Amino acid sequence: MAATALRSKKTEKAGVSKTALSLIAWEGIGAQMPESWNLVAASGDASAGYYRVDGPESEIVEFRWRKLRSQPDLESIAEDYLKQVKKSTRKQKNIYEGDIFGSRRRARSSKTRSRMTQVRFEWLSDRQALGKLLWCGECKRVVIAQISFPPGKVERQQAEAMLESVHDHTLDGGVEWGLYGLSFRVPSSAKLIRQQLMSGFLSLNFKGRAGRVIIERWGLAEVLLSDGMQAWHRNEYLGTLSSFRGETDPVDWGEHEALQTQGREGGLQGLRLLYRAFFMPWRVERFASLVWHCPQTNRIVGVRAFGVRPLDLVHSVAATVRCHEG
Ligand SMILES: [Zn+2]
Ligand SMILES: [Zn+2]
Repeated sequence: MAATALRSKKTEKAGVSKTALSLIAWEGIGAQMPESWNLVAASGDASAGYYRVDGPESEIVEFRWRKLRSQPDLESIAEDYLKQVKKSTRKQKNIYEGDIFGSRRRARSSKTRSRMTQVRFEWLSDRQALGKLLWCGECKRVVIAQISFPPGKVERQQAEAMLESVHDHTLDGGVEWGLYGLSFRVPSSAKLIRQQLMSGFLSLNFKGRAGRVIIERWGLAEVLLSDGMQAWHRNEYLGTLSSFRGETDPVDWGEHEALQTQGREGGLQGLRLLYRAFFMPWRVERFASLVWHCPQTNRIVGVRAFGVRPLDLVHSVAATVRCHEG
């Protein structure tokens, strides 16, 4: 047993050094994929959704998930799925071969079937696909993950390793997100409410019990920072806040030098007393942020939060950010 485990570990390591991998994850559902593969579509939320990742040689990785009250019969879901694939390939007059395996032999009685938490499938037509159905009793989600590609384009070992890395939650808590080489975790209660996904600018805006937290990343840092980090931070980063009052201090954040800010946003100071005098609601929010330059990737990464204890929220999320590999 130990020898096999050791051997498979070595093979995995050899694979990693050939192709650098990075984490792609959405709503906690993720896998390790080659760095050159990118998220191209995402929809839904934690209880039902879809996302797709494309590789440069028309490789496609797709994830679909749904929350269910109890564990479904994974094998019959896989059977239904392959029936659909077969139907659509027949329509295009393509050859078709498909199979479900992995746990079939152990799954004789319906009782056994209901306890299965993983089923693997494969099909071959004008494209080749390897997939996996997964039931997570903790998240109560069924996940279907599939990698497809022009026949023979991806080595079986690579496709298998990718499927092997598919997970629907992390053991250390929070919900994992990973895209375009940036990964982080947010508290479980935080829901994605807004996103901007561009190569030069990424922004993911979450709202949860602890408040709002926004993770942002800018490209071409050396251009943005031509007048220095302090100037960009003051004019651009804090410049988006209205009537902000607070303090910024340089801090060490892991390998990077960062600027940490704490303060309040909202309204004009002079009018505040007037509003208070007339018992009118006044929106003032506590604000905190941590922003750093990542020279390894020539990017700026920032985590900002609004809430009761925004600095705690910023620190808890920023501690999970991976801005560069290695
Ligand atoms: Zn789970
Ligand atoms: Zn970095």
